[in-house]
Amino acid sequence: MSFLSEIQRRRTFGIISHPDAGKTTLTEKLLLFGGAIQEAGAVKSNKIKKGATSDFMEIERQRGISVATSVLAFEYNGIKINILDTPGHKDFAEDTFRTLTAVDSVIVVIDVAKGVEEQTEKLVEVCRMRNIPMLVFINKLDREGKDAFDLLDEVEQKLGLTVCPLSFPIGMGYDFKGIYNLWEKNVNIFTGDPKKDIEDTVEINDLNSPELEKLVGEKHANDLRDNIELVNGIYPEFNKEDYLKGIQQPVFFGSALNNFGVRELLDCFVEIAPKPRPKQSEERLVKPEEKDFSGFVFKIHANMDPNHRNRLAFVKIVSGEFHRNNPYLHVRNGKKMKFSSPNAFFAEKKEIVDVSYPGDIVGLQDSGNFKIGDTLTEGEILNYKGIPSFSPEHFRYINNADPMKSKQLYKGIDQLMDEGVAQLFTLELNGRKVIGTVGALQYEVIQYRLEHEYGAKCTYENLNVHKACWVDPEDTKSEEFKDFKRVKQRFLAKDKSGQLVFLADSMFTLQMTEQKYPNIKFHYTSEFD
Ligand code: GDP
Repeated sequence: MSFLSEIQRRRTFGIISHPDAGKTTLTEKLLLFGGAIQEAGAVKSNKIKKGATSDFMEIERQRGISVATSVLAFEYNGIKINILDTPGHKDFAEDTFRTLTAVDSVIVVIDVAKGVEEQTEKLVEVCRMRNIPMLVFINKLDREGKDAFDLLDEVEQKLGLTVCPLSFPIGMGYDFKGIYNLWEKNVNIFTGDPKKDIEDTVEINDLNSPELEKLVGEKHANDLRDNIELVNGIYPEFNKEDYLKGIQQPVFFGSALNNFGVRELLDCFVEIAPKPRPKQSEERLVKPEEKDFSGFVFKIHANMDPNHRNRLAFVKIVSGEFHRNNPYLHVRNGKKMKFSSPNAFFAEKKEIVDVSYPGDIVGLQDSGNFKIGDTLTEGEILNYKGIPSFSPEHFRYINNADPMKSKQLYKGIDQLMDEGVAQLFTLELNGRKVIGTVGALQYEVIQYRLEHEYGAKCTYENLNVHKACWVDPEDTKSEEFKDFKRVKQRFLAKDKSGQLVFLADSMFTLQMTEQKYPNIKFHYTSEFD
């Protein structure tokens, strides 16, 4: 197969949802369709169970699962599909944000009864800002839930999307009869048998056909006709270009657990979802079809085995072919590197491969050379944008609890930060180190891993910080900036890349500071124009 057809047939995406909406179940059904797994229950949930905060074995177990499910790849009708795992747990939201830099589209799963939930809102916002094409799957139609139109309204209002229903439910919960597929113009009758690979699908080209009454009864037939008329009246027609631009979002209804409506979603997905998209680097826009290889690290996973400290760096290929044993330039440190055993991912397993294509993810063994956001190329200086750090929510001083092991401690902190577990800030005033995280859970993970992987011990001390703001002065030589640095000295720190950060202890302080120093901008993320 030619290089260009390899690119054309790739679809790399992520499934995002609030925990429990059905992401794992949907993933599993998709893999079943692709023949990648044989039975349900094969995909382990990477959910952090309640109470896991105090159970470190559980954390390790979860880490093992999350390595296994980081990338799930399978083939469907000649299309190579790569699903990138996005943890739903809010403490790992940053992992998900970073993974979203490596997807070309997403599927958003929403629980029909719970509607739009908090994590979905946050994740969709990130996708919307980046114009990532999104498909919406409303799940659990076999249960009582919200009215379909109310849900569509909620999706539009809370998520700021412009929806276009491509399927519509007939009944719901105990009275759920099936789904009318506006995309294929047919009715799928719900049998409630999850083992059935193909549901009973009946072509209905004309909704006025009496055939509909025979299938779902008079009341449902009439309701459906009214509903579809409303749908056609209210919502825009499906427009593939708008979907690809991220300004229109097709919606499907179904039940992942019952394998219902999943094939329709998949069939539509492979037809409309984008092939690998061009990516903006600081230097220029890079197209997948370019001959020269380039890619970036979006995730780093430490080895579970403490005796093998190697890590796995996940690289998304943006352009060109990636070949085993070819020398590639690690742009940040200016060194050429060769990889003798790059991993490609399949459903639940990884294998060494000789060549990978744009859209694919390769896993590279790493002894500590990579950090998140690093770019690899054939020699060109390129730096891929779009992996910013966000202001953490929690801040604590980290102290060394075993003076004999300070070297180990600093090495451990350094490597865990490269993996993106948390962010390190070093105070300007006294060099004390502050760890910022998205969730409280990370502090325990860090403490545990420092001890088990690096033989170092740490303690934490509370620190009252509301937000970390990256400081962006108009003029670094101005009196205003000098005054700011002097007055706020106690609250200034450097992040790991040496950027200046203001640790504001309250919203009020931040507002006062912004007023006092109008020519200094304060950003909640590390990347700004
Ligand atoms: P995740 O946290 O988003 O990965 O959610 P899971 O896939 O683990 O699903 C959460 C729970 O919802 C599990 O108990 C599933 O069996 C259940 N579930 C998923 N899909 C459906 C569905 O279509 N109908 C019903 N009734 N339950 C579902």
